[in-house]
Amino acid sequence: MTQIYAVDIELIDSFNESAKACYPDEFLCMVRQEDGVVNELVLLPGTVYGDSHSFLSEWMAPVDYSLAGTVHSHPGYSNEASDDDLAMFSNMGGIHFITCQPYDRNSWKAYNSKGQVLTDLKIIY
Ligand SMILES: [Zn+2]
Repeated sequence: MTQIYAVDIELIDSFNESAKACYPDEFLCMVRQEDGVVNELVLLPGTVYGDSHSFLSEWMAPVDYSLAGTVHSHPGYSNEASDDDLAMFSNMGGIHFITCQPYDRNSWKAYNSKGQVLTDLKIIY
């Protein structure tokens, strides 16, 4: 998998918009990267929001090597990964964003598959 070093600010804006639209449910989708920059949300048909099991099976099915990881929202004010989140991250590999209220440019965190916060991720404006 290509080493991811940056995320497009438009991606952050759009997952926050989607998170707001889904509130109080969790928003959940996949992300795609291009040349190491995460820049596209990949909405999966038939995804049941908040059901990580159906979501996981969607991940396992397609073979698309530009898929880089996931993003999901928390309905509260914490963007810390839960135990379930950490289990999902480790199963999938890649990069995983969690955003929380108030769903703005400062309310998200990115994790690697080990559940470590990615602090050196560049933002492309
Ligand atoms: Zn979570």
